Amino acid sequence: MYFDITPDDEFIKTKKVPGPTKEEIRALVISKTRLTDEDVVVDVGCGTGGLTLEFAKRARRVYSIDMNPDAIKTTRSNLEKFGLQNKVDLIENEGLAALDDIEDFTKLMIGGSGGNIDNIIETGYLKLPVGGRIIITSIVLETATDAVHMLKELGAEPEVVTLNVSRGTILDRGVMMKALNPITIVSAKKI
Ligand code: SAH
Repeated sequence: MYFDITPDDEFIKTKKVPGPTKEEIRALVISKTRLTDEDVVVDVGCGTGGLTLEFAKRARRVYSIDMNPDAIKTTRSNLEKFGLQNKVDLIENEGLAALDDIEDFTKLMIGGSGGNIDNIIETGYLKLPVGGRIIITSIVLETATDAVHMLKELGAEPEVVTLNVSRGTILDRGVMMKALNPITIVSAKKI
């Protein structure tokens, strides 16, 4: 079992693809996922592969979906860099369409939904087994509130956390803290 979280600057990045999700946020997402080595994880909107890499280190199998071909390429490069490409199926498609074809996953991460959050949550939640978990990360408030409403409608009890992380820059005269963009994490267990 791995406990380390890969530093942001170890990822291969491209301007055309967002991510990786910042290290501190990846750490909390892993916690909210309650990940074990038995888990099969679906990562909708894998971007640079920041979260996919963390899942691949710890889970049994990962399906990573992105509709941007550059995101699939970048995620593949990062998995190869860390020797984890055999753990992951990369799927270039829209999240909802791809989710329809995947069976038997236990954890669902939604990091990109392109205005389709309600449908992705509904389809994903219904496919999860009881005890499975769903996690949504959002930079836009509406994505988080839509996720809460949808999960409540489906009978789940969502938890909401906003992470405000500041990192220190060491200057001659002291430590200057610089804020990262706040990220809201909505998560729920399938009941
Ligand atoms: N968690 C990632 C960053 C995600 S950025 C990391 O750590 O690297 C969000 C990604 O979601 C983008 O690459 C975008 O192309 C993708 N995306 C947005 N809406 C989508 C949708 N409906 N289906 C598939 N991918 C989507």
